[in-house]
Amino acid sequence: GLPIVQLVDTQGRFDESAGAWSGMFVKEADPLIIEDLNRRGLLYSEMEYEHSYPFCWRCDTPLLYYARASWFIRMSELRDRLIANNHTINWYPEHIRDGRFGNFIENVVDWAVSRERYWGTPLPIWICQDCGHEHAVGSVAELRQMAKELPEHFELHRPSIDQAVLSCPECGGDARRVPEVMDCWFDSGSMPFAQWHYPFENQDMFAESFPADFITEAVD
Ligand SMILES: [Zn+2]
Ligand SMILES: [Zn+2]
Repeated sequence: GLPIVQLVDTQGRFDESAGAWSGMFVKEADPLIIEDLNRRGLLYSEMEYEHSYPFCWRCDTPLLYYARASWFIRMSELRDRLIANNHTINWYPEHIRDGRFGNFIENVVDWAVSRERYWGTPLPIWICQDCGHEHAVGSVAELRQMAKELPEHFELHRPSIDQAVLSCPECGGDARRVPEVMDCWFDSGSMPFAQWHYPFENQDMFAESFPADFITEAVD
């Protein structure tokens, strides 16, 4: 693939590759960059104009877009099963099956499932600090069994869960959780089994109620 070129660090400052402006906050560099272009005879025109721009919805701070490393679920590998299952559903109105929803799963892409925010369902992936082995923990019992250290009042959210140091199954080194949490759609999609604590409990309840008889959806 193409290399990722990122000249701005997460503090909004130019990095070393930006030469004269390295270490400077990007917005402060704007007039200096214009001046430099002008001096070198490369500036065609300078003007202020109105355009759309992303702002934080809470505090109105102007935002910067970054290319960020993310975790993905390989949905593309499930495409055939998704299409087959879609054809077992009675859609109302019927055209949704091969229209809006059918098109969506025909063109399904891998799901960028991780989120870089504090609150959320923690991504249950621990990485060994020694050998780099990645392990996805599948249950509380497995986590307790693999743990070298657990906080005294341990529970499955941040910050508590990030104090759980696990023993690497490959080399016995210290494995620590990745910092990301999950897209909240993952929580929504877990409802059919998670509400019953399936597969650890209530196998009968789950068998009786899955798949659901009726689901209502809306366009968002
Ligand atoms: Zn904000
Ligand atoms: Zn290891």
